[in-house]
Amino acid sequence: MLGLMQNQPLLISALITHAERHHGDGEIVSRRVEGDLHRYQWRDVARRARQVANALDGMQLLFSDRIATLAWNGYRHLELYFGVSGSGRVLHTLNPRLHPDQIAWIANHAEDQVLCFELSFLPLVQAIHARCPGIRQYVALCEADRLPVDSGIPHLVSYEAWIGAQGDRYDWPVFDENSASSMCYTSGTTGNPKAALYSQRSTILHAYAASLPDVMGLSARDSVLPVVPMFHVNAWGIPYAAALNGCKLVFPGPNLDGKSVYELMEAEQVTFAAGVPTVWQMLLGHLKQNGLRFSSLKRTVIGGSACPPAMIDAFREDYGVDVLHAWGMTEMSPLGTLCTLKNRHAGLPAPEQLKIRLKQGRAIFGVDLKIIGDAGEELPWDGKTFGDLYVKGPWVVREYFKGDGGDPLIEGWFPTGDVGTIDGEGYLQITDRSKDVIKSGGEWISSIDIENIAMAHPCVQMAACVGMKHPKWDERPIVAVVKRPGAELSREELLGFYEGKIAKWQVPDDVVFVEAIPLGATGKMLKTRLREQLKDYRLPTA
Ligand code: ADP
Repeated sequence: MLGLMQNQPLLISALITHAERHHGDGEIVSRRVEGDLHRYQWRDVARRARQVANALDGMQLLFSDRIATLAWNGYRHLELYFGVSGSGRVLHTLNPRLHPDQIAWIANHAEDQVLCFELSFLPLVQAIHARCPGIRQYVALCEADRLPVDSGIPHLVSYEAWIGAQGDRYDWPVFDENSASSMCYTSGTTGNPKAALYSQRSTILHAYAASLPDVMGLSARDSVLPVVPMFHVNAWGIPYAAALNGCKLVFPGPNLDGKSVYELMEAEQVTFAAGVPTVWQMLLGHLKQNGLRFSSLKRTVIGGSACPPAMIDAFREDYGVDVLHAWGMTEMSPLGTLCTLKNRHAGLPAPEQLKIRLKQGRAIFGVDLKIIGDAGEELPWDGKTFGDLYVKGPWVVREYFKGDGGDPLIEGWFPTGDVGTIDGEGYLQITDRSKDVIKSGGEWISSIDIENIAMAHPCVQMAACVGMKHPKWDERPIVAVVKRPGAELSREELLGFYEGKIAKWQVPDDVVFVEAIPLGATGKMLKTRLREQLKDYRLPTA
C-alpha cells in the first residue's frame, strides 16, 4: 500500500518562491566589484531570477543546458543560482582561481553555452573565449554603461541589459526532481578534473540538512556571511539554505582580507559565517593586531581542511564565538559531518572538550560513514583504528558527469580518499588524505596532528607536514613552516615543542623554514607542489 500524501517534486524554484512569499523583506547585502555596498531584499532576488529565466528561455536554451559563471559571492550570482536551476538549466560555477587553460578545458567539457562573468575576470575571459566555441553568449555582470568597449569578446552583453529587457512574470516549470541543477568540478590534483552533477532533489535535501540545529542551525534571525565562495560547491549550500530559512545574506564580493571581512561583519551584524581556515587566519590576525572584538558573531563553520586547535581556541576563548568544525567534499554537496557536542560533554573540562571539537564531527542524518582496512574489512569505531573513509547518501555522487573515471562506487559506497578514525560516539576524525599519509616503520603518522601542534606555536603562521623517503623507516615526517612576521624561531625550539604532545617516533625529523606554503585554487595546501619544491631536500637522519 502506498502512502496517500501529495507527491511534489523537490525543486529549487520552490526555495525562491518561499523566500519571496515569507521573507520578502529579508535583506541581501553585497560588496560589489565596483567597491560599493549593494542592498536589496529576497523579493528582488525572486523578481530578477524570473527575469533571468525569461532571458534563458528567450535564447532557446534547452532543458539541462549549462550556464557558467565566473563570479564572486554577490547578489547577481544569487539570482543566477535560482533563475538558471529554477528554469531547468544547469548552473556551472567555474573556479576563477584555476589556470586559464584549465578553465577553458572545463568550460568545453561541460559544454557551457552562456558565460556570466564579473568584470574583474575580463582578462580571464579574453584569454579563453577563442578556445570556447560552444559559448554563444557572454554576459558581463554589470550595468549597461560599464560594459567594456573593444573587449574583443563576441556576443557580449551587460547583465542588466540582458535581464532588463525581460518581463518579471514567469511560471516556474515543474519537472522530475532528479534532474540536474548545478555542477562543480573537483580541483583535479591528479588527472583531469571531474564534475559532480547535483540534482534538484539532492540540493533541497542538502539544504534541509544544512539547516538542522546540530548542523548550521540557520534561522530567519540569522545574518549569514558565506566567505566560502559560491564558485566552489555552491558555497557549501548556504544560498539555498538561506532561502529556505529566510536568513539575511551578506556577501563579501572580492574583498576577503581580515579588515574588509571584519568591517562587513560588524556593519551588517553578522551572526553566522562560514569559511576555510586560511581566511579565518587573516580575520583573527586583524582582530588581534587592532584589539578588536565581534559584537554580533555567534557561530562559524570551518571546514575544507583541518581546523587547527589554536583557531578553535582563539574564536571560543578570546572572542566567544562557537566554532563548528565541518568535513565534506565536492562529491558530497559538500556536507558530510559537523562537530557539535552532546549533552554529556557539557561537564567536561575545557581541554577535553577541545579534543572533541577538533574532530570533524558526527554524520549528518542522510550521510552514512564507514572505515575500511587494507583487506577491505570494516574497521571498529574505537577512535583509534585508522581506515579509508567511505560514504553514501542522497547528496553523494553516484557517478561523475559523462561517466568520467568509470564507476566510482564500491558496493554502493563512495571512497572519499580520506583516512580517519571514528569513535564510539560516532565522531569522525580525519587524519590525512590517503595520498598524504606518512608510513613510518609500518605505522601511520597523521600529518594533520603534526601541523596542528606546529600551528599552536606562537611564532608559526602556517605549517605543512610531508613524508620524506627514509632508508630504514620507509618515510619520516618533516614540517615546512612559515614564521609569523618578525618572529624568531629555531628548528630546535620547534622540535622541542613537540615533546610530550605526541609519541617520540611521531615527532618530525626536521623543520624547513619556507617563505610560503603553496595553496591550491580553493585555499588548501598543495602538498604535491610542496613536495616538488623540496625534491632536493635530504633528511638529516637518512
Ligand atoms: P579538493 O580538495 O579536490 O578541492 P574538495 O574541496 O571537495 O576537493 O575537498 C574535499 C577534501 O578536503 C576532503 O576529502 C578532505 O580531504 C578535505 N577536508 C575537507 N574538510 C576537512 C576538514 N574539516 N578536516 C580535514 N580535511 C578536510
